[in-house]
Amino acid sequence: MAAGFLAAMTQHPTLSRRITSISAAGPDGWDLFRRARAMREAGLPVIELTIGEHDIRTAPAILQAMHAAALDGHTGYSPIPGSPALRAAVAARLQAKTGVATGPQNILITPGGQAALFAAHHAVCDEGDTALFIDPHYATYPGTIRAVGARPVTVTARAETGFQPRAADLAAAAPGARSLLINSPNNPTAVIYSRATLEGIAGVVQDHGLWLISDEVYDSQIWEGDHLSPRALPGMAARTLVVGSLSKSHAMTGSRVGWVCGPEAAIAHLTDLQTNTNYGIAGFVQQAAIFALAQGAAFEAQIGAPFARRRAITLDLLARQNVVRAAPMQGAMYAMLDVRATGMSGEGFAQALLDAEHIAVMPGESFGAAAAGHVRVAMTVGDDAYADALARLLAFAQARAEVPA
Ligand code: PMP
Repeated sequence: MAAGFLAAMTQHPTLSRRITSISAAGPDGWDLFRRARAMREAGLPVIELTIGEHDIRTAPAILQAMHAAALDGHTGYSPIPGSPALRAAVAARLQAKTGVATGPQNILITPGGQAALFAAHHAVCDEGDTALFIDPHYATYPGTIRAVGARPVTVTARAETGFQPRAADLAAAAPGARSLLINSPNNPTAVIYSRATLEGIAGVVQDHGLWLISDEVYDSQIWEGDHLSPRALPGMAARTLVVGSLSKSHAMTGSRVGWVCGPEAAIAHLTDLQTNTNYGIAGFVQQAAIFALAQGAAFEAQIGAPFARRRAITLDLLARQNVVRAAPMQGAMYAMLDVRATGMSGEGFAQALLDAEHIAVMPGESFGAAAAGHVRVAMTVGDDAYADALARLLAFAQARAEVPA
């Protein structure tokens, strides 16, 4: 019996390499976020400019539509690729924005953009394949790529080139890779990729036979210039999977409504994946999403308006000093501030700012090495509180820059 017990002890099953490797070992850059939360819970008046989530909640009218749909019976299993009406509504929105012919057959409705990122990589990468993404990057990208069994490899977009990735750097990384993930408007940098950048990207993915995964969850928050979807470039619709979401455009982060837009054959296989993973999203949430999309572009502009105002506040305050510089604030809900003139790292600056001023911002390093010496400010508190916090951040930077080395 004792031998049997020992055998059972030694034969205990291990978890898969795939799941245990999703989170890379070592600090994940979110220590500051957790410390700020703990300080706040301990009663300190911490201003959190960390997470990319609106300071408003989902509009009551959308919630009423959700409630009515639930009472109306939309509580059973619902179509797994998404209801025909929701797929059509998303397709119409994308066609109106991009000019690319898009129908319901091109759309898979997913539980948020995050599930769409996972599904898109699952669709194009086999075990061990190289999946490229741009540094700086949204926090989950490397983990998402590892979660499908692929190998995440970064291509650097430098602060000196306004965080626009260069075609030459992409071409150097492309041989042997399966996919390239880009994000414009970009989190964390707030930069929008120019037509030249996107044409360079399109050239590289076509030359090297890659899939392009284009994360466009901030496509409603455009503050400068135009947002061009690379799917609209010649030859790209057949090799691009666009990831989208109602989280940012409609302040519906908790409802978990996203999509993959791509070639019909890819969407058919992605429907198989969804059948065997999450089985689609709740019918009453889909009905609420149809209602939300029916509010049109004016509603999306209204949701984005606070960030446009705070962007203006940011530019105004930055213009009055010369220590901190922002990456071009072209879109999304962030300001990526270069604090290198203080002589501090992004991490050091953010930690010291939290201690001295009780203001929490994200160290640039938590989004990749290319954002070292920067901090990301999420413009997600009311205008007055935001202006006050940013003024204090700038004064703090000014004081640090004046300290003799
Ligand atoms: N992509 C980017 C760039 C994001 O910033 C986020 C959320 N912060 C997501 C995808 C995922 O958003 P969601 O799953 O809520 O749609």
